[in-house]
Amino acid sequence: MTDATDTPTPPDGLPESLASELGQLTPEELRNTIIHAQELLQFHQETTSPIEPGPGEDILRATERDGFTEVVKQFSCADGCEDCPHGPYLYHVREEARPEGGTHLHWTFVGSVSADDE
Ligand SMILES: [Zn+2]
Repeated sequence: MTDATDTPTPPDGLPESLASELGQLTPEELRNTIIHAQELLQFHQETTSPIEPGPGEDILRATERDGFTEVVKQFSCADGCEDCPHGPYLYHVREEARPEGGTHLHWTFVGSVSADDE
């Protein structure tokens, strides 16, 4: 029933097996697929930026860049430290895949930044 010349061309990056499977679905199944895909997308967005301040840390700025997140944070250490807070310091945070599956955040220390925005 489906005429190959009428079939829309799937976008680059869509797995071929998935594209041919989607071509077999009814409109209702397609709608459910879209809903599920959106849920998955939202789930990924929620888990790709788990940048949380640790104890004694204060995140001043987190900026999404191409492939990494630029994070400026400062620290407070023990009570009575005359230099507190330390920083702010600039980090580049990358999400890296673990060989065993899943991902972890790789923090690269870039250097001190001036606390102009204080
Ligand atoms: Zn200190």
